[in-house]
Amino acid sequence: MVIKQVALDIVCGVTSTLPDTGQPEVAFAGKSNVGKSSLINGLVNRKALARTSSQPGKTQTINFYHINDEMYLVDLPGYGYATASEEVKAQWGKMIERYLHTSANLKAVFLLIDIRHAPSVNDQMMYRWILEKGYHPIVIATKLDKIKRSQLQKHLKLIRTTLDMESGARILPYSALTKQGRDEIWELIDGLTGL
Ligand code: GDP
Repeated sequence: MVIKQVALDIVCGVTSTLPDTGQPEVAFAGKSNVGKSSLINGLVNRKALARTSSQPGKTQTINFYHINDEMYLVDLPGYGYATASEEVKAQWGKMIERYLHTSANLKAVFLLIDIRHAPSVNDQMMYRWILEKGYHPIVIATKLDKIKRSQLQKHLKLIRTTLDMESGARILPYSALTKQGRDEIWELIDGLTGL
């Protein structure tokens, strides 16, 4: 994908009506700090379109980034703030549930996992949840630059077994620092959206 144009088009809060964009969407989920904003900024070649290091307690929104007027990257609110109130956690669940349930245009859900650590219980729940909603989660293993190349396979295997991933399910390693993995992610998105 050659990025010619990108804009944050739609921001949905808890009570917003979700848009029917009529164009292919791919969504990104993951716990806070996993590198989701950095990934989206890297995919669209911008430094700070998606807000990085978002603070706990801030408004939880679903952000739709319009790419070349033909598709959307959808930034789902991050989970796993230890300090988030029960109310925020409940809102978070409702929003994502509603989006996964109602979007007519959603082609794939990417789940971001920090490549350094075994997926958390929340990560495991998220993976199951996406599956239950009828999607085949594609894992992006973030912060690739933080591990030694010789350790890569070991880390990928730990993610695969901890999430009990379906055989044939993809894990794509990515580094926001070096942009390694960016082309592979776009290639996959292009295939999924038919663009
Ligand atoms: P988000 O909360 O999931 O949106 O995470 P951010 O994109 O804000 O990233 C959280 C922190 O991890 C920030 O300090 C980023 O600079 C850092 N980070 C994100 N991706 C990478 C990466 O690939 N490599 C390294 N070294 N740091 C990263």
